[in-house]
Amino acid sequence: MEVREGDVTIEVSETRHGASEGSGEGVFYNPVQELNRDITVGVLRAVADECDSYLDAMTASGIRAVRAASAGYSATGCDVDPEAVDLARANLERNDLAGEIHRRNVNAYMHETRHDVVDLDPFGTPIPFVDAAFRSARKYLCVTATDTAPLCGAHFESGVRSYGAVPRNTEFHAEMGLRVLLSALVRTAARYDVAATPVLSHVSSHYVRTYLRLERGARAADRRLEGLGYIDHCQRCLWRDHEATLIADPTTECPECGQSTWTAGPVWLGAAHDPTFVESVATAIPETAGAAEKARDLLSTVAGELETPTHYDQHRLYGRWGEPNVAMDEFLEALRDAGHEASRTHYGGTTFKTDADVAEIYDAVH
Ligand SMILES: [Zn+2]
Repeated sequence: MEVREGDVTIEVSETRHGASEGSGEGVFYNPVQELNRDITVGVLRAVADECDSYLDAMTASGIRAVRAASAGYSATGCDVDPEAVDLARANLERNDLAGEIHRRNVNAYMHETRHDVVDLDPFGTPIPFVDAAFRSARKYLCVTATDTAPLCGAHFESGVRSYGAVPRNTEFHAEMGLRVLLSALVRTAARYDVAATPVLSHVSSHYVRTYLRLERGARAADRRLEGLGYIDHCQRCLWRDHEATLIADPTTECPECGQSTWTAGPVWLGAAHDPTFVESVATAIPETAGAAEKARDLLSTVAGELETPTHYDQHRLYGRWGEPNVAMDEFLEALRDAGHEASRTHYGGTTFKTDADVAEIYDAVH
């Protein structure tokens, strides 16, 4: 069947539409990821002055390579499946676009070739590809992870194995997942003397997506590692604290309520985005993008988020206080009136960030 996305039309296999991972025949195309791809096109347009070549490392139908070529990039795709290679080539041709599609093991291919932008969009964890990707990417690496249960600590052992960090299933689980992923990516980049800086990240419909700006140099990589550390969290009263360090010094007892606490890490504690970059991406998303409006809304929230490493859930706090929650705008206004910073987050309608601790939040809204 034919699918129109942005300003391109591609042929995709119908057999695996809506099918679960690994089942069925044919080449996978995931319509749920249109928002993800629309934002990617925005990023590619926003960095077009400094980037020219793009690698779609998990090509499948070729949709990402085709859209990158349509955005003016010298696009390359790579897939081991001969059916996917044929389909991706045909999809470039159908749109009258140039591009190369290679039938190769993508890790081997990335070790041999350099591209300004490398895009990893696998099923599940991207970890098996990130070493080669950091060698291949010159300026930006884009990464999707769909294994949110391991990342956020719901599948604890799997998260520890894949990411070399201890994830904890807190009420800010989506952000926990993002920060565990960023930690693993920053540490992997550092092994190659590359400093990876997240410039845009979002967690949407069960996937995590991040864009990293890359800078070569051992000293830059050393500085980036300073953004790693540990988060202590109390499941009972929702108190939390964090420390940027690679030597864990966990708080074992909650200073507010005495409950034993959880520690997660090393996680990325630094900024998950650069607001100026996020705004430039929002502006660069073309009108033809199917999810343009949704993407711009999302990016506007992301750009306005405070840089704290965790967020709160307003409903969880009011549940803990045994009170009905108040309207979000009113709630954030009360925090600001009390002298704290406060913002909504893209993690959900009841989530917010603030520099106030739980006791200060309580005082501000009572
Ligand atoms: Zn507590």
